[in-house]
Amino acid sequence: MATSQEILIIGGGVVGLSTAHYLAKAGHQVRVIERDDTHAKSCSEGNAGMIVPSHFIPLAAPGVITQGLKWMFNPKSPFFLRPRFSPTLARWIWLFAKHSTKKHVANTQELLRDLSLESRRLHVELAEQEDFPLIQKGLLMLCKSEAGLEEEAEVAEHALQLGLQAEVCDAARVRELEPAADIDAKGAVWWPQDCHLSPQKFITALRQSIEQHGGQFINGEVAKLTEAQGRIQSVTTKSGATHSADTIILAGGIDTTDLAQQIGLSLPMQGGKGYSLTLPEPIANPQLCSLLKEGRVAVTPMGDSLRVAGTMEICGKNTSVSKARLQGVIEAFCNFYPQYKPSDFQGLEPWVGLRPCSPDGLPYLGYAPKHKNLIIATGHSMMGLSLAPVTGKLVAELIDGNTSINIGQLDPARF
Ligand SMILES: Cc1cc2nc3c(=O)[nH]c(=O)nc-3n(C[C@H](O)[C@H](O)[C@H](O)COP(=O)(O)OP(=O)(O)OC[C@H]3O[C@@H](n4cnc5c(N)ncnc54)[C@H](O)[C@@H]3O)c2cc1C
Repeated sequence: MATSQEILIIGGGVVGLSTAHYLAKAGHQVRVIERDDTHAKSCSEGNAGMIVPSHFIPLAAPGVITQGLKWMFNPKSPFFLRPRFSPTLARWIWLFAKHSTKKHVANTQELLRDLSLESRRLHVELAEQEDFPLIQKGLLMLCKSEAGLEEEAEVAEHALQLGLQAEVCDAARVRELEPAADIDAKGAVWWPQDCHLSPQKFITALRQSIEQHGGQFINGEVAKLTEAQGRIQSVTTKSGATHSADTIILAGGIDTTDLAQQIGLSLPMQGGKGYSLTLPEPIANPQLCSLLKEGRVAVTPMGDSLRVAGTMEICGKNTSVSKARLQGVIEAFCNFYPQYKPSDFQGLEPWVGLRPCSPDGLPYLGYAPKHKNLIIATGHSMMGLSLAPVTGKLVAELIDGNTSINIGQLDPARF
């Protein structure tokens, strides 16, 4: 390890905490500054808890825009772009459209595969070392229609060529893989390398490990970054407290864009709003997590409870709940899992989270271009939980000098 440094991490979501874990373990003096210890303002706690090497195709991919436009006028649709006058939104859409190409998928799939597989390995290691449950039974991409199954079979074929594992299953094979709940689907692709966990338990385990390695948590909302001579000299919270460190890491999820803007760094991001509902006593709890192709819904057993999550509303930072879209999530779930009915969800409080979505679907990871002591770690969109450990490990490696994976494509200065 290089000389021990004082490190200040802004943001205690899964990315900030994973980063703190690897840095504290490497012997650095780590502080995490978080405005909300309950994680109510983070995207990290209520998510679907999936670790997904299956997601080697970035959000910006061919067909997403066309599908989004088709869904624009359906109030229950899982993908929605909230129309509003905003130059930042217009630029984000323009960049997103520019990257939604086959070439972009081809240029990024190997990097996403390598990041995901390394992160999965680290999740397994962390679960053993920090003692939290990680279920390694894979994920079912369930398809209602023949056309949907054909599309997913093509993705599976592509994945096999990349060295990932995937199996196309008919309905009988789905029943064999998932004996614990009835599923109404034409078939599925089974992704055996995918895993799931409870994000709450993961967060608790990381916080404990950070403290055990001497890391500290500061409660406060960073309002100002002060720069001088190409360095971040200090950060100041809303309450006026000032903190400085050898290296500062910006891991504030969707709010990183505003913090970066203060120092002239453009990190275009839009909040990709999603909801989850957690059934505390499910009548038939599946063993495997699943994604419902036609409904774009994620289903994850979490211990004795069952979480159903969905929607991607490109919405800036708006956190209002669309009842229609939430109903769309519930109906899609009941459609695939016929033992359930929409009334099972009555009275459950929805959780809302804003995925930090970059316009090319790739994280921002690396040193800031004009500030020698500032590292950016955000923009993981729908894969933040999955990629959190590898992100943390790569930040620790960056501080040591060299990263084990080439992260040039994740350069925070790329836009
Ligand atoms: C419905 C849904 C389902 C999902 N399912 C999955 C899944 O199955 N697998 C997966 O990999 N990903 C999933 N995701 C995405 C994942 O949740 C995010 O990518 C991830 O949580 C991002 O983590 P983060 O640490 O970057 O950001 P956040 O979790 O948002 O954390 C950022 C933290 O920074 C803090 N902060 C911000 N600004 C400041 C400031 N100025 N001062 C102090 N603190 C600050 C915030 O309070 C927050 O706690 C899902 C998301 C949604 C919405």
